Amino acid sequence: MIWNKRYETMDREELEALQLSRLQETVHHLYDHVPFYKDKLDSMGFLPGDVKSLADLRRLPMTYKTDLRDNYPFGMFAVPKKDVVRVHASSGTTGKPTVVGYTARDLDIWSEMTARVLTAGGITAEDTVQVAFGYGLFTGAFGMHYGLEKIGSMVVPASSGNTEKQIMLMQDFGTTGLICTPSYALYMLEVAEKMGVNPKEDLKLKWGLFGSEGWTDAMRMEIEKRWNVDATDNYGMSELIGPGVSGECLQKDGMHINEDHFIVEVIDPDTGEVLPDGEIGELVFTSITKQALPLIRYRTMDLATITKEPCACGRTMARMSKVRGRTDDMLIIRGVNVFPSQIESVIVSTEGVAPQYQLVVTSQGYMDELEVQVEMVKDAFTDDYRVLEDIECTLANRLQTILGLKAKVRLLEPGSLERFVGKAKRIVDKRERK
Ligand SMILES: [Zn+2]
Repeated sequence: MIWNKRYETMDREELEALQLSRLQETVHHLYDHVPFYKDKLDSMGFLPGDVKSLADLRRLPMTYKTDLRDNYPFGMFAVPKKDVVRVHASSGTTGKPTVVGYTARDLDIWSEMTARVLTAGGITAEDTVQVAFGYGLFTGAFGMHYGLEKIGSMVVPASSGNTEKQIMLMQDFGTTGLICTPSYALYMLEVAEKMGVNPKEDLKLKWGLFGSEGWTDAMRMEIEKRWNVDATDNYGMSELIGPGVSGECLQKDGMHINEDHFIVEVIDPDTGEVLPDGEIGELVFTSITKQALPLIRYRTMDLATITKEPCACGRTMARMSKVRGRTDDMLIIRGVNVFPSQIESVIVSTEGVAPQYQLVVTSQGYMDELEVQVEMVKDAFTDDYRVLEDIECTLANRLQTILGLKAKVRLLEPGSLERFVGKAKRIVDKRERK
């Protein structure tokens, strides 16, 4: 099913004409209402009227997360405070959060975008959908919630945590759709198993829409098999609007970007040069329909590829790959670029270990050491030293093949790592120089 055929199957020429007129409006709006952008454009001698074609986008300045922090809390807003009807904030790990705002029209557009993503992932008005993202300043829960209401699904705003109760509600309400982070979906599985609930027999779950953190296709297969669902990935971030920027259709071959609301570019993160479709680089988005907080060429720090090849589902909107890593969570160990997603794919495809892991990086003198701590699955857990050594050895060899780097593997008892109800924290970097 396609939520909005008129836009989601638009031909590219018509789409690009629409993008251009919306971009022109947005640049005028920002120039007139946000001193940050007026100063930037003035210093470049660029007038809003200079946007004559989509190619002119490349001449516009980039926007960084630090720009939002520097203008905390409302300095980047492009409308008076009285027109803002909602704020959210991103979960900053240190210091002040990044604050984002919405007008009533922004909220309407946001629901439209999440309705598209939810529909692409299989959700219809017939479904009962449990939202297990935390409700609050975080955009995940509210964004999906209003998209679900727009579709007409029955929403269960369970929020995150209280996992046993979540499982009970799923069973009692006949929940058919689950929305949360992939790592929480895995944790819920463990809890369900402990409670003696068999997802295949005791639940009616069909759809899982998992987002807000990177995950691999191997992890998808694991989740699909054990939860007995179709699991799709979706993408967004609060600075752009929240969830709904893009989402997979049931082809599961890339996330369709809502290009009538966002223009996407993929750039070389070091030089800023725009890369051709298919090459991996940093995703950069320009919002072209927002009123309260439009951003020009926002640097997401997420690495992915895009394609405009037609998709079997009929949607014409460009697709982005799963996020392959972050320009900022990429670890450089002994000169080698290491993405946690590479390690995750090895763990998920190795017998005897669970997809619960932590990466600990230390330095001894000038030498970096990577230790991969991973939990064993209950059935494989044993005191037999030879068996453990065998699994450690297999993992270490596979990691070396994939990473081109020797890593130490430490097997842990099932359940020994911390569990997360939101985004998982998997990297512990103890090096003084990083
Ligand atoms: Zn598709």
